Amino acid sequence: MPFDLTTLRLVEKPVTREEGLRILERDQYRCQYCGLDGGASFENALAMSVDFVVPRARKGKKDERNLVACCRSCNMIKGRRVYRSFDEAKTYVLAQREKLRKAWETRKTAPAAAASPSAKAQKPSPAETSKAAAASVISSSPLSIRNR
Ligand SMILES: [Zn+2]
Repeated sequence: MPFDLTTLRLVEKPVTREEGLRILERDQYRCQYCGLDGGASFENALAMSVDFVVPRARKGKKDERNLVACCRSCNMIKGRRVYRSFDEAKTYVLAQREKLRKAWETRKTAPAAAASPSAKAQKPSPAETSKAAAASVISSSPLSIRNR
């Protein structure tokens, strides 16, 4: 078993390619949290991974009952928190996604609200505005806070 330096514990090995494929097939390549269909496009397929419901760092076992198909976004949002059950984890992930979506939509529809007068003169293109909105959502999300 590898040693996790952040928790000073022995942890299970990551799933191998074969083990991962078995779980993805069982779950029909759908994220078990948000329902993203990994079979719908190449981009979706790239986003698919396998999640330890109880994280390895928390003594989660490499047992198929503890493994689910999961997109990378949900995996990051879920983080290393400990949940009493898969359903509790799913409820948390979906609630966080909804919060992030609301924040993103708010910033996308009212990007100039907090802008200075000089920003009005150089109005960014819609593409730049939505990029900026996405960046500001990400910088205030738990995704970036986790890595500090
Ligand atoms: Zn997902």
